[in-house]
Amino acid sequence: MQEAPEVPFYRHSLTEEDIAEVATVLRSLFLTTGPVTARLEEKLAAYLGVKHVVAVSSCTSALFLSLKALGIGPGDEVITTPMTFIATSNAVLHAGARPVFVDVEPATGNLDVARVAGAITPRTRAVIPVHLYGQMVDMVPLARLCRERGIAIVEDAAHALEARQGDVRPARLGDAACFSFYATKNLTCGEGGAVATSSDELKESLRRLRMHGMSRGAADRSTGRHQHWDMERLGFKANLSDIQSALLVHQIDRIEEQLARREAIARRYEEAFRGIGGLDFPRVKAGNTSARHLFTIWVPPERRDHTIAELERRQIGVAVNYRAVHLLSYYREAFGHEPGSFPIAEAIGSRTITIPLYPGLTDGEVDRVIAAVREVAGSW
Ligand SMILES: *Cc1c(COP(=O)(O)O)cnc(C)c1O
Repeated sequence: MQEAPEVPFYRHSLTEEDIAEVATVLRSLFLTTGPVTARLEEKLAAYLGVKHVVAVSSCTSALFLSLKALGIGPGDEVITTPMTFIATSNAVLHAGARPVFVDVEPATGNLDVARVAGAITPRTRAVIPVHLYGQMVDMVPLARLCRERGIAIVEDAAHALEARQGDVRPARLGDAACFSFYATKNLTCGEGGAVATSSDELKESLRRLRMHGMSRGAADRSTGRHQHWDMERLGFKANLSDIQSALLVHQIDRIEEQLARREAIARRYEEAFRGIGGLDFPRVKAGNTSARHLFTIWVPPERRDHTIAELERRQIGVAVNYRAVHLLSYYREAFGHEPGSFPIAEAIGSRTITIPLYPGLTDGEVDRVIAAVREVAGSW
């Protein structure tokens, strides 16, 4: 096994309180979806100011089940961005629909809402905006456009649980917003996800779809009393267990404090990198509060791989979020995409490097990351 770099790409900040909550579940009778998951759903809904949250096994299943709950399938088109993790467009493919990509804004990497209208066809059933790195897509014009045409909005808010745009937050203007609790996300239980929605109908569908389409879930089974159940619709198996929910329930109380720390680190990076020739980074637009999930730098494309290697040599953990999805082999072959199809996403995909950003990063480690970037940029 390879050793982690001295400044790892990500370090979770789980506490003894989180671990103790897991131990409590492990000592109880019932390990899977039950009272702790219900508590998590309530706390998350309260944090987001939204009516319902349905906890599921991942953001991938959150996206997929949301599309299924909306009745989207074969013959339908779903508009989304190529500057995202493959989960977004893979969920569309799993639902049997066709992902239609639209290029992004050069300053943010977010779906360019001005281009969405041009991609709408009579088959368009939904748009999946991805709130990239933590900054929300321009939701007001997107919602106006979609509402007029009866097109659903499923937000990929895997990076953006904490994001704001004036009064708008995830799941405010979208029909559903999907979150991830994967190992490197702002809130984590290793693997997990959730859907937030204000629709009672969508909530009911999601609760059934996550559990085979059963009319009664395992939570009801936890009472130990037998009740006959029915299955009216084919569902899936994508519920979140109480073991995982236990790891998440107390993290919700620390969300704002951790966001403040990430914001402070991101501002130090922005200040330090502003004057470096050849280096740039995505901008947070006025009026937006970014969830500050990932901090990415943009370097000259021909120096990107060299820069990654040099940062790794200096014991800094890095990642690439993301190379444009439409140019990955499967998407090229299935849909005939070529380089040049979505030039702005491609340009970002060839220049981007993600550097460490998490609350547990010390000031000394932040200094070390800045010094390493400065040094490598000086050698370009
Ligand atoms: C992490 C991520 C996902 C997938 O989340 P999982 O919980 O791993 O399924 C989806 N979209 C984006 C933008 C992500 O970063």
